[in-house]
Amino acid sequence: MVSETILSVQALSKNFGKIKAVDKLSLEIKRGQVFGILGPNGSGKTTTLGIVLGLIKPQSGDFKWFGKPISSTLLRNIGSILETPLFYPYLSATDNLKIIADIKQVDYQGIDEKLKLVGLYDRRNHAFKTYSLGMKQRLAIAAALLGNPEVLILDEPTNGLDPQGIAEIRDLIKAIALQGKTIILASHLLDEVQKVCTDVAVLQNGQCLFTGKVETITSQGLAVEAMAEHDELLKQAIESCAWAKIIDQQQKVFHIQLDSGHLASDLNRYLLEHEVALSHLTTIKKTLERHFLELLKN
Ligand code: ATP
Repeated sequence: MVSETILSVQALSKNFGKIKAVDKLSLEIKRGQVFGILGPNGSGKTTTLGIVLGLIKPQSGDFKWFGKPISSTLLRNIGSILETPLFYPYLSATDNLKIIADIKQVDYQGIDEKLKLVGLYDRRNHAFKTYSLGMKQRLAIAAALLGNPEVLILDEPTNGLDPQGIAEIRDLIKAIALQGKTIILASHLLDEVQKVCTDVAVLQNGQCLFTGKVETITSQGLAVEAMAEHDELLKQAIESCAWAKIIDQQQKVFHIQLDSGHLASDLNRYLLEHEVALSHLTTIKKTLERHFLELLKN
């Protein structure tokens, strides 16, 4: 089954003076994905989100939500938190959400359900100012979900939170995804994208360096670390191997990338056949981080 495209972005560009904040960026986000926009600070994530939410005008390029140009009707179907919304400190969670429901012109019926989802129902009558940072962020997510949008956009949702707060937000994102919503999440944290996202686009200087399934990246081939008494012989043997490639060498330690389907034991056997005895061999799981760093190196 071909899943429906929720957001398509084509060759989007935005300059701020000489800075190319977004540079011919193209993306495709499908229904049900938890799509991570991953990149270091200043790589253009927030600008991209600002453009697709109609807050920033691009210089060139195009984007469509559900196959259509952006409109106020379409925006009702997209909940977003680009900045923490301003809640009234002395009002309770429920009263703050009622104000937001009025602004969004949706009824109050969904408020309790959203408070339960974000784990704030028991604290619903307490003043906002008594909340921890994590609770404030969860209330912001509840506010974005009022009106039941199909899409939720989050920009650095765990910034500034302690480890427990981070874990709670990540669990919440997964729970929201399980309800079938499409989530777009901008983050500079590889670990975050790896833990919660199904798909990723890696951004650098406003350009997309890579886009694909998080699962594919994390399981793509194996990397191993190997050492031998005669490192020159090891090097030659690897160079003659069709399915192994040296990706790095730190003194006598070689980092070797194996094509998918090949294991460390295959490499060991191959090297023995070529009369190279290893003194050290370990598997390094190819993480998104490694992939991300490799991409940024090029
Ligand atoms: P961060 O996580 O630090 O917010 P980001 O990936 O979201 O980074 P953007 O905020 O989109 O990146 O910024 C991309 C580039 O555009 C940066 O170099 C930034 O300084 C610049 N930029 C963003 N907004 C403006 C603006 N309003 N005026 C001038 N330059 C801007």
